[in-house]
Formats: sequence, C-alpha cells, structure tokens
Amino acid sequence: MATIKVGDLEIGGQQKIMIAGPCSIEGRDQLLQIAREVKARGAHILRGGAYKPRTSPHSFQGLGPQGLFHLKEAAEETGLITVTEVMELDELDLISKYADILQVGARNMFNYPLLKRIGRTEKPVLLKRSFMATIEEFLLASEYILKEGNHRVILCERGIRTFEQMTRNTLDLAAVPIIKKMSGLPVIVDPSHGTGRSDIVLPMALAGLIAGADGIMVEVHPNPKKALSDGLQTLDFPRFQEMMEEFHNLCQYLNKAEEQRSSRTMRGAAS
Ligand code: PEP
Ligand code: MN
Repeated sequence: MATIKVGDLEIGGQQKIMIAGPCSIEGRDQLLQIAREVKARGAHILRGGAYKPRTSPHSFQGLGPQGLFHLKEAAEETGLITVTEVMELDELDLISKYADILQVGARNMFNYPLLKRIGRTEKPVLLKRSFMATIEEFLLASEYILKEGNHRVILCERGIRTFEQMTRNTLDLAAVPIIKKMSGLPVIVDPSHGTGRSDIVLPMALAGLIAGADGIMVEVHPNPKKALSDGLQTLDFPRFQEMMEEFHNLCQYLNKAEEQRSSRTMRGAAS
C-alpha cells in the first residue's frame, strides 16, 4: 500500500485525512475565514476551486489567478496543505506554483493529454472519478499519470450518475475497497458531490471511512445559501464541527479495531 507524503502529511497511512474548504474560492476574506475554521477543527488539507468546471457557462467560473493567490496566503497563514483543480494544460504551471496538490475533476478524468502532462510533473494529484466512468476506466485514467512516472496519485470516489433522483450522484462506496485493493493507491471519498445534500454528508463521510477510505473531502462555507457554487451540498461551520467530532471518534474506533486485527494476525502467525 503506497503512502504519499505532502510536506509533513502522510496520505494513505494510519491517520485518516480531512480535506475541507469551499467549492469555489470567492474572495480573500471568505477563504481565510474558512481556512482558520477548518484548521481549528482538525482538517489537514484546504480545498478551494479557482478554476471551476461549471455545468453552465453562465455560472460563476472562479477567480482564476486571484483565487490561487488567496489559496497560497491561506496556506501560509494556517499551515494547511492545499488542493485545487486544474482544468487546462495552460494553467498547470501557475497552479503548480501556488498549490500543493493538483485536483483533476470528474469532467477531466477522461482528458488524457492533461493526465499525461501531469504525469510528467512531480506534483501529487487528486484524481476524481468521472460521474460516467466504470471502476476500470477510473483506474486506467490513473495509469495515464502513473505511466509517465508520477506515482503520487490519490484516487477520489465522488459519485456516479444513476437513475436515482433523490441525490445528485450515487456515491459508490463499493468502489472504495475495490480501487484500494486493485491500485494500492490512497483513496478519498467526497460525500459532498457524492450526494449533493448537506443533510446526508455526515453519515456518508463516516460510511466512506468504514468502507476503508484514507480520508474524506467536504465542502464548507460560512453561509452555504450564499455560496457561489454547490451550496446545497455544503456544510456550514456548526455542521462541519459536528462532522469533525464524529470523524475523530470514528477514527479512534477504527485505529483500535486495526490494532486488534493486527495483534490477532500476529498471534495467528506465532501459533
Ligand atoms: C469540486 O471538487 O468542486 C468538483 C467540481 O468536483 P467534481 O469534479 O467531482 O464534480
Ligand atoms: Mn463543488
């Protein structure tokens, strides 16, 4: 099982990772406020989009370079690692300068030239599953990056399109142990995009951990109703705090269960 070091943070090791932040970086104050809040509650990585792949060209498209400057400032102030999405080859160098981890979003999972180009960098990558990709297609997309020599790939299950209408996507938790086993790469679950509903982000985050995810990624905003993107699936600060309490409790339980499992295995091997 590969682990990926980003700064002092190890992803895919014993410690479960929390990635939190707004869907879109909307301004300096908004991002700093969120960064301080999620850091105080125990998040490890700050997320936030500066280049947004919006379904409608009429929707907010992100702050672009200005958003990257805010992200860097928030990282410097809080010490958080950062992740942000890269959509185009042209943006790659600039984004690489300002963020620690490159996100390839669901819409670009099939963008093989982008994957290959990222594969020629040494930047860690959070590769999200396309909403229309099979597990096999998802893993093959990751191999486009790996094959070029970049092995710092983290996979993210973020839901797929099904006939179900009560959720924005169907979060495919069965994919989690499968992709972990087949790839040996760290796996993150995104219950925000995976459900589209802030009221069920918490249970699906916990379910993701139980399914074996190495971490969770959620969207957080001080006032989700006013968020410029994805407000319906975004946690406000009290909800994020509640989720972090449950996250920490579950992590303790999972660590204990893991210790018991490995001491059973050792006893078995000795007898
Ligand atoms: C996001 O993380 O904000 C995002 C756009 O996600 P996805 O690519 O999974 O839709
Ligand atoms: Mn979003």
